[in-house]
Amino acid sequence: MEKLEQLYEGKAKKVFATDDPNVVLVDYKDDATAFNGLKKGTIVGKGVINNRVTNFLMQMLEKNGIPTHYIEEISDRETLVKKVTIVPLEVIVRNIAAGSLSKRLGLPEGTKLGQTVIEYCYKDDELGDPMVNEYHIAAMNWVSKQNLDLIAKYALKVNELLSAFLKQSNIELIDFKLEFGITNDGELVLADEISPDTCRFWDSTTHEKLDKDRFRRDLGGVEDAYQEILKRLMGE
Ligand code: UDP
Repeated sequence: MEKLEQLYEGKAKKVFATDDPNVVLVDYKDDATAFNGLKKGTIVGKGVINNRVTNFLMQMLEKNGIPTHYIEEISDRETLVKKVTIVPLEVIVRNIAAGSLSKRLGLPEGTKLGQTVIEYCYKDDELGDPMVNEYHIAAMNWVSKQNLDLIAKYALKVNELLSAFLKQSNIELIDFKLEFGITNDGELVLADEISPDTCRFWDSTTHEKLDKDRFRRDLGGVEDAYQEILKRLMGE
């Protein structure tokens, strides 16, 4: 497969066309941003780790019945994925209160929620990714009702599979963000990444943060935390 022109550059990844119209190449960067781009920095080695962690978890999910965009890892930072039209929603799944939910509802971080919570945010940097509900999504026609139902079903299944899987590595899944896309064949698939950039991972025993909160909150040990996740999941 040939790497052709760059189609898009995001905050953490670049996307390139290939000679197959149904396939694009994702290239993971070390750039890190937080607070809607207000805080910028570099996490050395992050691109390599997020590429490998995402692909490892996507393959685990695919084996367990979640359709994903993953095709093939081709280098330490590059992966071939199905070309999709991204549904313009961030799908957030929460097990334990943290981050913006803690702030919004005045819940101390670490409070166990009575049940899993799904939130949707409209992907728009200028608007700061506002939270929306099913009515907004239907009114704005961002995705069909049928696919939104499927998104919610997949999101809960991903939560069950990921939580159980990470538990074996003594990692607690606090919350995470998913994105979905629609392929050229019209299939809804899990897209984007699943990594310490997009999930809150806490050590199950010590509750130490092993994710991007170390960068967001200047906690130090950012690179080590990413490396620790890679090591616990893949033994490296
Ligand atoms: N998240 C993300 N991208 C975003 C916003 C959130 O990947 O643009 C992830 C974040 O890492 C966390 C979860 O979604 O695992 C919930 O984030 P929250 O709403 O608490 O926002 P934050 O506190 O990160 O601003």
